[in-house]
Amino acid sequence: MAKKGIQSVRGFCDILPAEAAIWQRAEKIIRRVLEAYGYREIRLPMLERTELFCRSIGEVTDIVEKEMYTFEDRNGDSVTLRPEGTAGCVRAGIENGLLHNSEPRLWYSGPMFRHERPQKGRLRQFHQVGAEVFGVSAAEMDAEMIVMTARLFRELGLNGLRLQINSLGTPQSRAAHRQELIAYLRDNEDQLDEDARRRLETNPLRIFDSKNPQVQHVMAAAPRLLDNLDEQSAEHFATVRNLLEQAGVDYEVNPALVRGLDYYTRTVFEWVSDDLGAQGTVCAGGRFDGLVEQLGGKATPAIGFALGLERLIALLGQSDKQPVGDAPHAYLVVACDAGAAFDLAERLRDRLPGLRLQVNPGEGGFKGQLKRADRCGARLALILGERELAMHVVTVKDLRSGEEQRQLGYDELEQLLHDIIAEEPAD
Ligand code: ATP
Ligand code: MG
Repeated sequence: MAKKGIQSVRGFCDILPAEAAIWQRAEKIIRRVLEAYGYREIRLPMLERTELFCRSIGEVTDIVEKEMYTFEDRNGDSVTLRPEGTAGCVRAGIENGLLHNSEPRLWYSGPMFRHERPQKGRLRQFHQVGAEVFGVSAAEMDAEMIVMTARLFRELGLNGLRLQINSLGTPQSRAAHRQELIAYLRDNEDQLDEDARRRLETNPLRIFDSKNPQVQHVMAAAPRLLDNLDEQSAEHFATVRNLLEQAGVDYEVNPALVRGLDYYTRTVFEWVSDDLGAQGTVCAGGRFDGLVEQLGGKATPAIGFALGLERLIALLGQSDKQPVGDAPHAYLVVACDAGAAFDLAERLRDRLPGLRLQVNPGEGGFKGQLKRADRCGARLALILGERELAMHVVTVKDLRSGEEQRQLGYDELEQLLHDIIAEEPAD
């Protein structure tokens, strides 16, 4: 019996080359749009002190209560694989003095880790692109950030996403609402699940975030935070709504939208798809004016969002706009001295930036080499035999069109490859 290979860890997935092509196309567009709005990339570590997440995300949240990959390292320090990017971004901003006298716009991307039940659209290692702006409290910033995400989805070719927005007001306005909410929940306690009952005392707002349909039903009639906004938050929200309307970005106000993390204030938003099953939220964000101070920095308003790349890629995989493959443009079939083929290939790569050329390595009959050329998806097979070498030509066979093969001089070959590279759309 064959030995069983070692399998991947549950919820940790491989991204295979065919899929990676879709990822790359998406990442390129995302970077371009973020840069168009003045965001600069920051690269953050994947491991942080556990305390960072407890203090930012909130002790009574799904993430901190049951989803974190937390362990002691060899020094006995408690460390955690980051479950999200904002906490680390704020930590880095404070630690490196990025938030003083400037209004940095930062973006990051990379894997996040949460010990959830793996299912469609829900992994234990998943990837996010996130962006944060610090030092700006104006409602225009909220609107611009949301409009930017709308542009992002447009440029990615995704038109079916719905935007939901809400305002969570300030911690002060939440305190009054909290009492009202607790009273309502007490009256309906028999319909709550165990999680919700526990949170009734510790963090009742969190219950709006429940995934349990029965609990969601109770929450649909619960007192709404939106009706208890302080005057400034209400004004702030009205400005955001006006600017979205002015920009032609459609939205729905969802008063039950609270987001799964504790640090949000005022504007929160989500982009939701109906084509992803239960895990429909592709992008989520909001304002977090208190977080920088809470983590030991000077009081600094901030707003940000995170985009789940697996869910985004799943949608792109469903759309008909397929990405450009990254198969080689050409495969060099070597029927001559290997050194001569090597030289030709290097010269072509020198002269043609962007060329993807694969050279047949080692031995191999002519037929076998052509089969490899076909299998790797190359558009052209370039055949270099002793006869071609002597005549300073290459035999070119188009593997897609089935056109008659022909012999080209080196200059003509270069021109042909140049044209093929130029034909490729930018993304
Ligand atoms: P959900 O309600 O789906 O659990 P969340 O509120 O926990 O999401 P956020 O912390 O706001 O998610 O993360 C932002 C985005 O990251 C989500 O909208 C989603 O696209 C993606 N995401 C979050 N958790 C996962 C996961 N376990 N697997 C894949 N993508 C995820
Ligand atoms: Mg979650």
